[in-house]
Parts: sequence; structure tokens; C-alpha cells
Amino acid sequence: MSRGPAARRASRLVMIGKVGVGGTAPASPVVIQSMTNTDTEDVFATSMQVAQLARAGSELVRITVNTREAAAAVPKIRDRLAQMNVDVPLIGDFHFNGHKLLTEHPSCAEALAKLRINPGNVGKGARRDEQFAQLIEIACRFDKPIRIGVNWGSLDQALLARIMDENAQRPQPKDATEIMREAMVTSALESAAQAEQLGLAGDRIVLSCKVSGVQDLIAIYRELAARCDYPLHLGLTEAGMGSKGIVASTAALSVLLQEGIGDTIRVSLTPEPNGDRTREVIVAQEILQTMGLRAFTPLVAACPGCGRTTSTVFQELAQDIQNHVRERMPEWRLARVGVENMTLAVMGCVVNGPGESKHACIGISLPGTGEAPVAPVYVDGERVITLRGDNIAAEFRQIVDDYVSRTYPERASH
Ligand code: SF4
Repeated sequence: MSRGPAARRASRLVMIGKVGVGGTAPASPVVIQSMTNTDTEDVFATSMQVAQLARAGSELVRITVNTREAAAAVPKIRDRLAQMNVDVPLIGDFHFNGHKLLTEHPSCAEALAKLRINPGNVGKGARRDEQFAQLIEIACRFDKPIRIGVNWGSLDQALLARIMDENAQRPQPKDATEIMREAMVTSALESAAQAEQLGLAGDRIVLSCKVSGVQDLIAIYRELAARCDYPLHLGLTEAGMGSKGIVASTAALSVLLQEGIGDTIRVSLTPEPNGDRTREVIVAQEILQTMGLRAFTPLVAACPGCGRTTSTVFQELAQDIQNHVRERMPEWRLARVGVENMTLAVMGCVVNGPGESKHACIGISLPGTGEAPVAPVYVDGERVITLRGDNIAAEFRQIVDDYVSRTYPERASH
């Protein structure tokens, strides 16, 4: 018998605007985040991309705040989003000059739902503690949660040097990989403790420790999960482009999510030139849905095809149905309760087709090479009709639409 993911690890509940992250059983659902790649100074482009990401399903959106002009743009972006009826919480990403920008632009702090700070990029030497304290004071004053986001590429060098010195004193020093992992975890935990000493409540802190290696990420988060009860934001940084980025992120996040570790996730994909930024949101949804953690959109199961599917009809139908569901889903989601749980199967021949079709809400088996040109359709396990001829795709779409209308009740508010 298959076992589902472990119960989520208990953590403090942190509210980011209206979105709850973490908590004890029942914990909030694992929340999907994304990040814009527009110039934040460009209010129009950034607002449009935030809206696109939110409409695709991103429940929190992070934007870079790196200049005075970007800080000044943040409240304008918030206002423009309100005009578009987009109320997704915005997270400001601060490095090096965050203390200055937030001090000079209180309206930026006000417009954000969370501040992300990187303890390795807050400042150097004595100024590090001073500037970190300034950021925490601003978070307290504006009642904003923070994410302490450690990143291997910008690890606090003073802390790393200290840990290496301590390691050198050990009778059996740890190797470089272990020291790197220890430094990441220590940076996050010591910064969180420092923030609490400065007056920030423990339920206003989220932690992350991002690295680009799958095994490093898993080891670091297991350690973090064992040593604290702050909610954890998961993400493999610099995951890469295309299938490499998707596979690496999925491998790393799935292992941790399976163990109940992780309260928010981001899939950091490098888009193709002019590619669609919402891809990272869809991949994050697919990770959570295929693991049985959340449901966002009806799943379409399709066989891979083989020598029995020598025409492209089967691939075209599978793609047609996938696209149809994605196109209709924004409307269905608003209008119909539970439609995201619908499952569809598009199969290439009668070998596994009817069997798989019976397990789905709606399934179709197309004729394989040499089979009679008919396509049996199963609905809730029963064979209800056999489609023939040139219009199979349109007729199958209609069966899906009718099933949605008949099966999922209308929302009261609709
Ligand atoms: S269901 Fe039929 S077409 Fe699809 S992979 Fe199996 S044998 Fe091949």
C-alpha cells in the first residue's frame, strides 16, 4: 500500500498579509511563491508581471528593491495592482542598502507584506550588526514579518571564517561540504535569534537556506527542521533552465516535502529568452499536486505512446485536452466547487487504455495502429459512449464540459 507524505512538521504560524504560512496541525497548505524579473522601477511592467504570476496561482510574489527609484515605485505598484483587483501579498527583496531604502521610503515598507533580508548581504564588519538591527527595527515598527534568506552564493564570510576556525580546533575536523552546510544553518539560526533579541516576535520570522546542489539542500533543510520551529521557505537556487531546472527543483523539493518539511516553495527557473515567467508557478503547482499535497487544476494522465501509436492523433488530443482544461480553469475555479480534483486520462490504444480510463473521472482510449477506428469513453468507471470520425477532440471536450457542469456544484457567490 502506498503511503502519502508525512504530516507537516509543526511550526509557528506566520501571517504574510492574508496568507498563513506554517502552523501546527492543521498547518496552512504549502504556499507557492514566485519572483518577478522586471525592473522594479518600471511600475507598469512590474505590476503586469505580478498580476500574471498571481493569476497563474502564485500566492506570494517577491520583487527586487535595490534602488531609491525601486523603493519609491513599490507603493505605486501596490496601488496599480489594487486597481487591477490583484491583492497578492508583495515581498520586498533587500540586499546591501535595504536599511537605507526602507528608512528613506517608509511608504515602501508600508506597501510590502514581508521583507526578505540576506544576512550575508546586510553589511560588513561592525556595520553588519548595526544595519541588521535597523532592518529589524523597521520590521517591528511596520509590523512586517521577515524572511531571513541565507544563500550559499552570499554566505556571511565572517561567520564562515569563524566556523572554519572552530572546525580546525576539532580533533577530527569536518570536511568542506559539512562545514558549508553547518555555516548556512548557523547563519540562519543565529540571525533569527538576533532578530528576536532585537524585539521581533518569533511568529514574524521565516527562514530559508538556498543552495544549488540537491543533496546539500536536503541535508541543510533536514538540519534546520530539526533545530527550529520557524516556517521554512524551500527553493533550489540557480536551478537552471528548462528540464534541468525543473528536474533538479522537483527532486530536491519532493524529498523534503515528503518528509513534511517546507511551508512555502519557489521553483527558480531561468526562463528562455522572452519565455513565460509563470512557468515557475505552474511547475510548483504540479509538484504539490502530483505529490498529493494540494489540488490546483485537473490532472490529465496520458500514456507515453509507443509503436502502437504511429499517428500524431493521440498526442494532439492529449495536448488539446491539457490546453482546454488550462484555458477553462480560471472560470471553473471561480464557478465550481472541487473541479480541481477532476482527473482525465488520454490513452493511445486499448492495451492499457480502458483500465486507466476507468480510474479517471473521464477517460478516452484512441485507436492504436491496426485497431478499429473507434474511441471508447469512460465516465466515472463506466463506458458511456464510443466516439468515431473526425470530430473526436471537440466531442471529448464537450463531454468534459458537461461533466464539470453536472458534477461540481456552483459556488454560492457565483
Ligand atoms: S497504452 Fe497503448 S499506446 Fe499507450 S503506451 Fe501503452 S501500449 Fe502504447
